[in-house]
Amino acid sequence: MRGFEFVVPTTVPAALKAAKGKKYKFIAGGTNFMPDLRHDHSGETKIVIDLMRIKTLGGISAAKGTIKLGALATVTDLIESKLIAREAPILRDMAAKFAGPIIRNRATMAGNIIDGGPAADIVPPLLALKAAVKLTSLKGRRTVALDKFLTGYRQIAIKSGEIITEITFPSPGKNHLHGYYKLARRNAMAITVVGVAVILKMKGKICQEAGISLGSVNPTPIRCYEAEKLLAGKEITLDLAQIVAEACAAVATPIDDIRASAEYRKLMCEVLPRRLICQAAGISIDPT
Ligand SMILES: Cc1cc2nc3c(=O)[nH]c(=O)nc-3n(C[C@H](O)[C@H](O)[C@H](O)COP(=O)(O)OP(=O)(O)OC[C@H]3O[C@@H](n4cnc5c(N)ncnc54)[C@H](O)[C@@H]3O)c2cc1C
Repeated sequence: MRGFEFVVPTTVPAALKAAKGKKYKFIAGGTNFMPDLRHDHSGETKIVIDLMRIKTLGGISAAKGTIKLGALATVTDLIESKLIAREAPILRDMAAKFAGPIIRNRATMAGNIIDGGPAADIVPPLLALKAAVKLTSLKGRRTVALDKFLTGYRQIAIKSGEIITEITFPSPGKNHLHGYYKLARRNAMAITVVGVAVILKMKGKICQEAGISLGSVNPTPIRCYEAEKLLAGKEITLDLAQIVAEACAAVATPIDDIRASAEYRKLMCEVLPRRLICQAAGISIDPT
């Protein structure tokens, strides 16, 4: 990518107007954009629009039972947010495993979703939380459920001229349990081999509603709808956790690559959900 104009708007309308009618690219934290730039010799992009000075796109807040993550909220913001620690600690657990501190300080929510790749780590917890993506263009606004926004390998349902402004999800409530696991070759700066996110909304011993998702085992992170249904309205037992875990593995279509075999990944799609559900529900999985 060569010879482009670079603009730094401070409002969403200014960013959208700068993009209108041009071959544009938005940049947020730049952690995907900058490596991509090195390989793009097409010269197609005529204007790069830096979103990072648009204050209304940042921050983390809550209103009427809905948690709102600004498109430009960073992974570090998740770690430092008391609201996230209280309302959705699964995001803090994910953030602690994301890259390393330097990347966490730059990497944004929207940038990770736009990545659209199977190993985008912010996506599985957001899927388990049943998040939605808010978009704005010069034509208006729309909201799309995150699971419908991810349409295939590195494909997302964004239209030309749209900016992601916010990611929202219903607060899972005080009584929810959660589990998150990033299986990777190292504890930091590693691409996920299998990612699992579990949210269990509880009433006493009964799981009222579940959100379960897998990353790195399909063309895009996915929700395990059948597994979620199996848990709804039931008391969690080791036997049920096993059935749910098998339903998770059934929807995984992993590939072999340099990090792990498809066979190993498939097995982990059963082992990890079972372990996370049991740990969250306080069920011993020790066979003795
Ligand atoms: C060393 C390193 C380690 C990494 N480790 C991890 C990891 O552990 N886990 C992981 O998931 N990822 C990892 N990544 C990938 C990357 O950091 C994340 O995907 C990050 O969240 C991207 O966000 P960003 O703000 O940097 O996006 P950018 O690079 O700024 O943008 C990426 C894309 O999103 C678009 N975009 C950004 N914001 C908006 C918006 N609001 N509306 C519309 N379009 C927008 C841009 O146009 C661009 O196409 C790593 C990257 C590096 C370089």
